[in-house]
Amino acid sequence: MNVGFVYHPIYLKHDTGQHVENAKRLEAIISHLEQTRLKEQLTAIEPRAASIEELLLVHHNRHISQIQEVAQKGGGWLEVDTVMSPDSYQAALYAAGGTIRATEAVINGEVNSAFALVRPPGHHATPTRAMGFCLFNNVAIAAEYALSKYELERIIIIDFDVHHGNGTQEIFYDNPQVLYISTHEYPFYPGTGSIEETGSGAARETTLNIPLPGGCGDAEYLQAFEQVIAPAAKRFAPQLILVSAGYDTHWSDELALMQVSVTGFAQMVKIIKRLADELCNGHLVFSLEGGYNLNALAASIKATFDMLLGCSDIEDLLGQPPRRIAAPDITPLIKKIREVHALP
Ligand SMILES: [Zn+2]
Repeated sequence: MNVGFVYHPIYLKHDTGQHVENAKRLEAIISHLEQTRLKEQLTAIEPRAASIEELLLVHHNRHISQIQEVAQKGGGWLEVDTVMSPDSYQAALYAAGGTIRATEAVINGEVNSAFALVRPPGHHATPTRAMGFCLFNNVAIAAEYALSKYELERIIIIDFDVHHGNGTQEIFYDNPQVLYISTHEYPFYPGTGSIEETGSGAARETTLNIPLPGGCGDAEYLQAFEQVIAPAAKRFAPQLILVSAGYDTHWSDELALMQVSVTGFAQMVKIIKRLADELCNGHLVFSLEGGYNLNALAASIKATFDMLLGCSDIEDLLGQPPRRIAAPDITPLIKKIREVHALP
C-alpha cells in the first residue's frame, strides 16, 4: 500500500499561544512518526495554498476577507474559542490546500490513500463564520473541489471527532451528492447533530447523525460503525470517502467524556478502509480535526497510518481507559437511527 501524508511547517505558524489547539499537536505527531520510523514508509505530498476560487466553493467572500484582514492586523480573537496570529491566514490556506492535494493524489493514483496532517482544523467552520478553532472547512472544500474538478457524483464524509461537525453539516445540508455521517458526544458542543437532522429537500437522507451519550468506548463505536455507518455507506455507493479525523474521542482527552482507545481508532479505520476498498477503489482521504492529549493523538495517528498500510493490528501502549464511567447501552439508539434512515 502506498500511503501519503501532507505536512508543512506553515501549519506551526498558526500561533494560538496557550490555546489547547496549538502547534505542539502537529510537532508531537511528526516527531512520533519519525521516532517510530513510520514516516519512512509514507509518501510525502507537498501541500499548496488553496486559491480564493477554491475557498469560494464553500465560504462567502466576506468570511474569507475577514480572516485575511484579521491576519493583516496582527491577529486576534474571532469568537470565544477561536484565535488568529499574523500567519494564520496563510496556514489556513495551506490547511485547505493540503486537504485538496491529498484528495488529488488519491484520485490521480499517486497514492492509495492519504492523511492531511494540517491545522487549523475545519469541521466547525460554516460558510460565513469561523468557529470552534476552525477558520476554513478543509474537508468540505476538498469535497466540493472533488465534485467539480473530477465530476464526482457521490462522496461520503465520515466525521469521528468527538464534536459534531456543524459546519460540514450546514454546508452539505441540501446537497444530495455528499453523505455526511458524524459520530459525536451529544448533547455537547456545538449543540447540533440530533438524529432528526437528516438533510433537506433533495438531500433529505444525506445527513446521518449518530449522537452518542458520554462514556461510549471501543465497543459502542464499533457497534455504530458496523450497524449504521457500514450499511449506510454501502447503500450510498460513494466514489470517494473523506474522513474528518478527530482524536478527542480518546479516553485521555480532557475536552470530552468518550472512552475510545488507540485500538478502537485502529478498528474504526480498518472498517473505513474496508468500505473504501469495497466501494470506491480504496479512494480514502483523512484530514486532521481535533485531538488534544498529545500522547494519545500521536499514537492514534500512527495507528491510523498502520491500518492504512495494511497492518492487521497495532501496539496500544496507552491501553484501555480506567473505567470511571459505565459504558451506556446504545442498542435502542442504534435501532432508532437505523429506523429513521431505513437502513438495510
Ligand atoms: Zn473536536
